[in-house]
Amino acid sequence: TKLVEIKNISKIYHTLDGETRALDNISFDVNKGEIVTIVGPSGCGKSTILSIISGLMKPSSGEVFINGKKIEKPNKTIGYMFQSDHLFQWRTIMDNVLIGLEIQNKKNEENIKRVTRLLDTYGLEDFKHHFPNQLSGGMRQRVALIRTLAIEPELLLLDEPFSALDYQSRLAVSNDISGILKREQKTAIMVTHDIAEERWFKVLLL
Ligand code: ADP
Ligand code: ADP
Repeated sequence: TKLVEIKNISKIYHTLDGETRALDNISFDVNKGEIVTIVGPSGCGKSTILSIISGLMKPSSGEVFINGKKIEKPNKTIGYMFQSDHLFQWRTIMDNVLIGLEIQNKKNEENIKRVTRLLDTYGLEDFKHHFPNQLSGGMRQRVALIRTLAIEPELLLLDEPFSALDYQSRLAVSNDISGILKREQKTAIMVTHDIAEERWFKVLLL
C-alpha cells in the first residue's frame, strides 16, 4: 500500500537576480516498508524535495500526501535524520535518544523500555551512559537513527546520513542503517549525492 504520494511537485526560488527552478514536475510514490534513495549531484534539488515532503517548505505547485492526507505543515509522523548527527555533547546516549519523546511529552516507562531495547539490539548496550564524544562516528550515526526511531515516525527522511563519515565507515554504517530500517520495517526516503549508496535501496535519479 502507498504511504507517500508526491504529485507534480515544482519549486521555483525567487531571488534578487531572478529565479531558480529547483524542481520541475516531480512525481513518485513510496509504499509502506519501502526504502527509497534519491540520488543526484549537488544543486539538483534533493534538499528541496525533502523539505517539501517534511512540510517545512511549500512547493510552488503540486501536492504531497501521506496516508492519503495532504501535508501542509510539519507533521509528527515524520522523522528527520540529518547529515551530521546533531547529538548533544553534554547528554548521555540514553538522554540523547529520549529527546524527541521528552519534547512530545511521551517519556513514559513503556517508551523508555522500547528505546532501551533499540539500543541493546543495535550494539549500544554498553554505551547508554557514555557521552557522544566517546563513540565512533558510525556509532553516533546509529544513535541518531535510533533517536529518530524513538518517536515512532511513519516515515523517515534521511539527508545524506553518511556524508560526514570516511569511506570505510560509510560502507559499514550504510549496512547498519539499511539493516535497522528493514528489521524495524520502516519506510524511508534517503537523499545522497553518492551513487555508490544506491546498491542497498530502490533508487530514483533526480
Ligand atoms: P541539493 O540538495 O541537491 O544540493 P537544493 O535543493 O539545495 O539541491 O538546491 C536546488 C537548487 O535550488 C540549487 O540551484 C540551489 O542553489 C537552489 N536553491 C536552494 N535553496 C534556495 C533558496 N533558499 N533560495 C534560492 N535558491 C535556492
Ligand atoms: P546541501 O546540498 O548540502 O543541501 P546547499 O548548499 O544546497 O546544501 O543548501 C544549504 C542551504 O542553503 C539550504 O537551506 C538551501 O535552501 C540554501 N540555499 C542553497 N542554495 C541557495 C541559493 N542560491 N540562495 C539562497 N539559499 C540557498
